Amino acid sequence: MVMKVFVLALILAGIYFFFKIKDKKQDEQKYADNNEEVKAVEMKQDAVCGSYVEETTKYKVRLHDKIYYFCSEECKNKFIDENTNH
Ligand SMILES: [Zn+2]
Repeated sequence: MVMKVFVLALILAGIYFFFKIKDKKQDEQKYADNNEEVKAVEMKQDAVCGSYVEETTKYKVRLHDKIYYFCSEECKNKFIDENTNH
């Protein structure tokens, strides 16, 4: 009888540690994913004023298969003017 309780406790402990390790691995995975998101936003240089802007900016222009990024509507318009007047 004592032996059975001991074996049962051992099995329960095994299950407990199995799930504990599994949870920890999932947390580490989540943390790694978050880090990846932070790294994903690249900084691009404004072709007009030279300041750095995030790749996700709404001020961008595609010209000759290259994408140009700007800090503001003003810089974007200036770039378009300079490149379409010719
Ligand atoms: Zn600018």
